Amino acid sequence: MSNKEIPYKIYLEEHEMPKQWYNVRADMKKKPAPLLNPKTMQPITAEELEAVFCKELVKQELDETNAYIDIPEEILSFYKMYRPAPLVRAYCLEKKLGTPAKIYYKFEGNNTSGSHKLNSAIAQAYYAKQQGLKGVTTETGAGQWGTALSMACAYLDLDCQVYMVKVSYEQKPFRREVMRTYGASVTPSPSETTEVGRKIRAEFPGTNGSLGCAISEAVEAATTQEGYRYVLGSVLSQVLLHQSIIGLEAKAAMEKYDIKPDIIIGCAGGGSNLGGLISPFMGEKLRGEADYRFIAVEPASCPSLTRGVYAYDYCDTGKVCPLQKMYTLGSGFMPSSSHAGGLRYHGMSSTLSELYDQGLMEAVSVEQTSVFAAAQEFARVEGILPAPESSHAIKVAMDEALRCKETGEEKTILFGLTGTGYFDMYAYQRFNDGKMGDYIPTDAEIAAATEKLPKIEKA
Ligand SMILES: *Cc1c(COP(=O)(O)O)cnc(C)c1O
Repeated sequence: MSNKEIPYKIYLEEHEMPKQWYNVRADMKKKPAPLLNPKTMQPITAEELEAVFCKELVKQELDETNAYIDIPEEILSFYKMYRPAPLVRAYCLEKKLGTPAKIYYKFEGNNTSGSHKLNSAIAQAYYAKQQGLKGVTTETGAGQWGTALSMACAYLDLDCQVYMVKVSYEQKPFRREVMRTYGASVTPSPSETTEVGRKIRAEFPGTNGSLGCAISEAVEAATTQEGYRYVLGSVLSQVLLHQSIIGLEAKAAMEKYDIKPDIIIGCAGGGSNLGGLISPFMGEKLRGEADYRFIAVEPASCPSLTRGVYAYDYCDTGKVCPLQKMYTLGSGFMPSSSHAGGLRYHGMSSTLSELYDQGLMEAVSVEQTSVFAAAQEFARVEGILPAPESSHAIKVAMDEALRCKETGEEKTILFGLTGTGYFDMYAYQRFNDGKMGDYIPTDAEIAAATEKLPKIEKA
């Protein structure tokens, strides 16, 4: 243990920023299962993937062997506009809780998109530009990913077409305007502009849309326009790779002060921020160099890891994306309209699913009223108004810190604070008015959705 006094914020110098991403799959003995082609149900080839995704990103998606991948110079210089992100010692929260635990959080909300998603958006836009494409298409649920991608595309002068889940399009008009300010075109999904959108609207009239639907529309838009590819803000292995910048920076900052975390916590929607935060630490665990507890936190309304099944499933409602083996609630599962839009996804990153299945990571689910109570307490002492998604991690970090108070243990807790909640004031309003409820799906509802999982012959 070092005697150095730990500052409130630990910043890396620019020259100390990581210059390579870390690919945790390289250190996994048992790798995540391969992606399957939805038409043939056979492992998908690079060539098949390249019809939908950018070439270099396909290479990253399929790369299970290279542990370190160079971050191109242009991406590094974009990162420098808003990185390194601070590692904050939550002295005020510790005091408020009266805990002997030491709490740190890595804050990713310091950019206009308000979340960590920009770390992967700039990488994906960069490779699209390198390939000479005209533009990219994507979906957005809560709006953070669409905002991040529109910023990245504006910087690189690429066209950006966003399919935004209809309910968010209506509830979050200002997110939409931020995207348009950065030059993106935003279409509420399901829409009449795609075949799959028209089909879903005919089947479910009056639907508010879902992430799974919007993905199908964005994929169709990419594959039917010359010079376009589809990009995705979470779930994929390439996204975890780009997000490893979070964990690499956090680890480097901690090492400056000889700090070693005991518990690392992150919220998990598709798994990208959590995967990125834990990757370098997980690498040490996999190589037998160190041990850590990792905790994924998911909403009780959409509990993929804690109540889903580990199986091949579609990543989207329209069944056009490759299938992935993952913890899933079924691609037909319609999560209740909780206020953490970024966590309302039926599946989970295949890498995190495999790590969880091997017992290398834990998962817990939490109810949204308790999450907002934690968010409020955090905002009052630490100043930052957290995103509802991020607040899931806050809630569990506080629970662990309170456990230390009971046992007297001085554990070091690190959690990912993925973003700010300024566009989520409707949710905070519901909470402040005492009108927020908790919705937990019944076993029967989950069984009904998981029963419809595709039956896969041995791939
Ligand atoms: C999208 C989002 C998440 C969840 O996505 P992951 O891929 O699981 O990280 C969490 N927090 C914020 C602020 C987000 O925008």
